[in-house]
Amino acid sequence: MLPSANTYEELCAKFQWDVPEYYNIGVDVCDKWADRDPDREALIFAEEGGDTTSYSFQDLKDLSNKLANLLSSHGVEKGDRVGILLPQAPETAYSHIAIHKLGAISIPLFTLFGEEALEYRLENSGAKVLITNTAGAAKIAQIKPALPELELILNIDGTDHNSIDLHAAMQAHSTSFAPLKTKADDPAIIIYTSGTTGQPKGALHAHRTLLGHLPGVELPHNFFPQEGDRFWTPADWAWIGGLIDVLLPSLHHGVPVVACRFKKFTGEAAFQLLQDQQIRNAFIPPTALKMMRQVENPRARWNYKLRSLGSGGEALGAELIQWGRNTFDLTISEFYGQTECNLVVCTCAEIMEVRPGVTGKPTPGFDVQIIDDAGIPQKAGVMGNIGIRAPAPVMFLEYWKNPQATKNKFTGEFLLTGDKGVKDEDGWIQFVGRDDDVITSSGYRIGPGEIEDCLLKHEAVGMAGVVGKPDKLRTEIVKAYVVLRDGAKPSQQLAKELADFVKQRLAAHEYPREVEFVEALPMTTTGKVIRRELRARAVDEEV
Ligand code: ATP
Ligand code: MG
Repeated sequence: MLPSANTYEELCAKFQWDVPEYYNIGVDVCDKWADRDPDREALIFAEEGGDTTSYSFQDLKDLSNKLANLLSSHGVEKGDRVGILLPQAPETAYSHIAIHKLGAISIPLFTLFGEEALEYRLENSGAKVLITNTAGAAKIAQIKPALPELELILNIDGTDHNSIDLHAAMQAHSTSFAPLKTKADDPAIIIYTSGTTGQPKGALHAHRTLLGHLPGVELPHNFFPQEGDRFWTPADWAWIGGLIDVLLPSLHHGVPVVACRFKKFTGEAAFQLLQDQQIRNAFIPPTALKMMRQVENPRARWNYKLRSLGSGGEALGAELIQWGRNTFDLTISEFYGQTECNLVVCTCAEIMEVRPGVTGKPTPGFDVQIIDDAGIPQKAGVMGNIGIRAPAPVMFLEYWKNPQATKNKFTGEFLLTGDKGVKDEDGWIQFVGRDDDVITSSGYRIGPGEIEDCLLKHEAVGMAGVVGKPDKLRTEIVKAYVVLRDGAKPSQQLAKELADFVKQRLAAHEYPREVEFVEALPMTTTGKVIRRELRARAVDEEV
């Protein structure tokens, strides 16, 4: 979707959205290529242990058509919700495609969700069918009585726990299916937010959301696609970062995607896969990069060659950018966005002088402003709400069954991200923190990300989570929870050393007055530090 341009400014000036009235994700990412180039490789399923299976676009078309016919025979029609509780696998990809071609709404669900999390999402969305595996069916068996709307469970592994064998059931159905002619604005996906700040919310997206994602995928991946591209992400496809930042945009462009489910994700396993599958493009969230960063001397141990590497969902930070340059010979691109309105800010080393530690510039096609609570844009240098001018093709339609939350998400002409930021004279946007995460200390407003990034530069630190701890004198003090790297030992002296380390590099008011060593940080299933839990812990310590 990006025009050719030599500068970022020229790119923004030339950029135009191209969203047709009728558009269907399933047809776009699958049938389009199957008709043009049926043998083109779409998916490589790399199982741990070395076996790989390749699927062409024609394979995906045949399989998704059979599944669409099967779902249709069970009464699934336009607007019905169908859950997909599966890891990265071919079935996951063709289930989304089949559901979209039916005009139904897919609900990606993360396999690590427990029964409570599944019950909340399946009940909230009113899903009629669930496509899962035996592990998923076993969880559903426990909560089925609470889900009266769930009529059918299709199981990719067989028939356990009152489920129907998906593959056997598909056998009886034809590979011909006429996709529903959907409008670009018709609902396509309900994707739940990470639940970092509270209960996850079901963001309902239209088919057009995929087109809305394209500039924010193409630019940070240095003008994706290019000849020979091959994409992989460890982010689960149940999360917007895996599904609509990697799987669907790659297929839209006819670029093959490597699917892999690790028994356990480790830094070593990631480097191994980059080598074995000759990955050229990857999206790796900061938490996973921090795990890879703990691996000693990867360049000597594996032979890998990435063309582009993007990261986002949390602040990337200068330390990871430096590590990325040493490890991959490239500048990791950052993107910023959220489930409701994604990829709105990004970097691209090809076309801009990346400033390590600064989030990025508005993605072409987006007007991103720092606004006050009434929605009035602020001057450069003023901290305020990060707002995205509405409408935009990527923006969600509504929170499922929650009109009040939808209303609160907008002010004036803008969508409110719920994040604080600052814009400078050159248009660079700095994410400061989520509304609740910004620390107020002695009259200063401090974002936790910068301090976490600084701590990470210390050789003993593996991960860090920084929050404000209530303080009578200073309103809040900066408190850091630190997970040490293997081999480093916690001590009072190290705590003081880390505090001084930040004091010297940042500013006297930003250093953590308290440093506590912990075994692990509370994380969402998408790998984000849940600072509200750390805050609650810090408050409890007071009593
Ligand atoms: P919930 O809305 O349920 O509390 P969540 O906001 O974590 O969960 P997501 O939509 O997955 O759910 O995450 C989007 C948020 O992640 C953004 O609003 C922002 O706070 C944070 N984020 C995303 N990208 C970046 C980035 N590059 N730098 C810093 N923070 C980021
Ligand atoms: Mg959010």
